[in-house]
Amino acid sequence: MTGLNPVSQPPKAERRVYRIRGSVQGVGFRPFVFGLAQELGLTGWVLNDGKGVLIEAQGTLLDDFDLALTQRPPVLSRIDHIEAVNTNLIAHEASFEIRHSAQTAVMTDIPADATTCPDCLAEMRDPENRRFGYAFINCTHCGPRYTITKSIPYDRPQTSMADFDMCPACTAEYHDPQDRRFHAQPTCCPDCGPQLSLPIKEIAQHILKGRIIALKGLGGFHLVCDAHNVGAINHLRQRKNRDAKPFAVMVQNTRDIQTFAKMDGAEEHLLESIERPIVLLEKKGDIFPKEIAPGLNRIGVMLPYTPLHHLLLDELNGHPLVMTSANPGGEPLVIDNQEAQDRLKTIADVIVDHNRDILIRADDSVMRSDMGKITMIRRARGFTPRPILLQDDGPSVLGLGAYLKNTICATRGAHAYLSQHIGDLDNVATISFIEESIEHLCKTLRIKPELIIHDLHPDFATTRLAQKMDTPTFAVQHHHAHIASVLAEHQLDGPVIGVALDGFGLGVDNDSWGGELLKVDGLNFERIGHLHPLAQPGSDKAAQEPWRMGASALHQLGRGDEIETRFQTANAKTLRLMLDKNLNSPLTSSAGRLFDAACGLLNICPKADFEGQAPMMLESMVRKIETTQNGWQIDNSILNFLPLLDIISHLSAQSGANLFHGTMIAGLADWVEQTCQTHNIQTVALSGGCFLNQILSQGLTRKLQQRGIRPYLNQHAPRNDGGLSLGQAWLGRHYLQRGS
Ligand code: ZN
Ligand code: ZN
Ligand code: FE
Repeated sequence: MTGLNPVSQPPKAERRVYRIRGSVQGVGFRPFVFGLAQELGLTGWVLNDGKGVLIEAQGTLLDDFDLALTQRPPVLSRIDHIEAVNTNLIAHEASFEIRHSAQTAVMTDIPADATTCPDCLAEMRDPENRRFGYAFINCTHCGPRYTITKSIPYDRPQTSMADFDMCPACTAEYHDPQDRRFHAQPTCCPDCGPQLSLPIKEIAQHILKGRIIALKGLGGFHLVCDAHNVGAINHLRQRKNRDAKPFAVMVQNTRDIQTFAKMDGAEEHLLESIERPIVLLEKKGDIFPKEIAPGLNRIGVMLPYTPLHHLLLDELNGHPLVMTSANPGGEPLVIDNQEAQDRLKTIADVIVDHNRDILIRADDSVMRSDMGKITMIRRARGFTPRPILLQDDGPSVLGLGAYLKNTICATRGAHAYLSQHIGDLDNVATISFIEESIEHLCKTLRIKPELIIHDLHPDFATTRLAQKMDTPTFAVQHHHAHIASVLAEHQLDGPVIGVALDGFGLGVDNDSWGGELLKVDGLNFERIGHLHPLAQPGSDKAAQEPWRMGASALHQLGRGDEIETRFQTANAKTLRLMLDKNLNSPLTSSAGRLFDAACGLLNICPKADFEGQAPMMLESMVRKIETTQNGWQIDNSILNFLPLLDIISHLSAQSGANLFHGTMIAGLADWVEQTCQTHNIQTVALSGGCFLNQILSQGLTRKLQQRGIRPYLNQHAPRNDGGLSLGQAWLGRHYLQRGS
């Protein structure tokens, strides 16, 4: 080198073929490529085909083109893979064009629903714009997708927009590659699109008068009322059957949140993301009535995500709203106008609908972030049908989940498609919903599963459903599937030590499991430890009444005499007898029941209104975790927290909550560490509903890391039974592929 720059050569033209795979159709990818080509003076073409997007581009700035493709693709797109190969230059090519899709093209992916984009919001608020004040404005970068599409290819005739003929102005935009609405399937305007049944002004007035509105949204109806009106909130609770489930609130912007909740950067980012989930934030002060989320230190918050929400909040000057799913009696969310009239008239004072049909039901997704660590609690609107990436290609299989918080999961190639939250399968309507979901998922993915995977439990509706189907079935143990869901997401195979902490799953010995240490290696698993079992007096009833587990713990501690004085309920005496005589008191190693026992002894939520309520309240009470080394024993890989229950039974709720959490974490960490050493495995997978408890999951994760162990948790799939079907599907693929 002479230290001088070489004389720069004039840039040379090149031509490259790009094959792009991922979610790149119906998301404005071709206009984006077209725009880039204009910007960089390239010639060539772009088209959609059966595999994704195909591009040939020619010019001197192809490296810039490469960079832009990956760095600023359209918001709704997701690139899984780009292949680029140089090819021969073509002489006399004058322009760049968007070519018609190849005949074989199938729009393989239905995109997820996305929040209204800033450009559409600006138009909606611009009195000069033809879509001013229009509640259904959308474009290529935003709006309804999954919830209005019944089948593939994702094209207007397959959506509920098929009923609306585009006016000339909308048609022109739709066909103009330079327009934001080029091939935006749901595009419309006040002249040609859907209409609300009631003007926004009137809806707002009803709300301010304290009325309850059933409002048709994106994935279903919401029940809506004024978040500052205690009377309205109480009415809503009574009419929804007095359950204590927390309601979410919708506020206009993140600035408003600062007044009532703590929010860090990661939480703000989640709230403003295109998926717009409900985010559980730590409460600050009491500007809202406590009836919104009784006994909990977190409140579910979301920002407006449809034009209708924005218009309503604009009209209300940002006055916050309570928004809760309209799913009377725990049945699936109401989506149909007539159904709303039939089922919501006893709950809502006013029903507001519109004439764009919701074809696929999707609840609001629920997430939580703690110090940037994100937990998916309910995965639905905004996320489905986006796939979870698996390690390898493989046969198509279908996991049906278990019983509570159910989802299903189908695989195609290297993708696992976890359905939206379906619900608890304790009613006929939800069971029909799962059947619809199976059909819809298989149809839109164009797959015929080779194997149906279900839970080992013979009485679950999902097990019976599997047996009714005309496809080979495979039963997997509940906690094996939980751990497998972590392996699936992190593209691991094992062997790992799995820590499954949840409410209930049938064990291979026919006992009730739920606090398990498993050694998992793909399809193989071995139960190598478990929590010391507690009697569950009244069986399933004990899962709804934590005081029963408190009594059970006392009994096992030899303090049965205290049951009647401590738990002054009519059933206390009977319960004592049941425990004495071992009647209807099956043993369980469930971690959920252990949490219940703690709640029972601390008199936190003696009877629960919904699954997980008591442990959520217990977690809410923690101020600073504390540990007692005398709280547990490990004997032959069985971890016993009875000493801890004994200690906290003498404490206040607050101190008990602190000590319970800290000691659980310490005991579990010791237990896991010993097991890792014995089996010489340093990778640990944590799953099960108890890990939705962030104090537990973060505390344990940190402790394991300090000891040189690598812990993995679910990130995309819920850690509770909402993620189970993913693990089942993963195991099903291993089953089909075994030996090959
Ligand atoms: Zn838009
Ligand atoms: Zn129009
Ligand atoms: Fe479970």
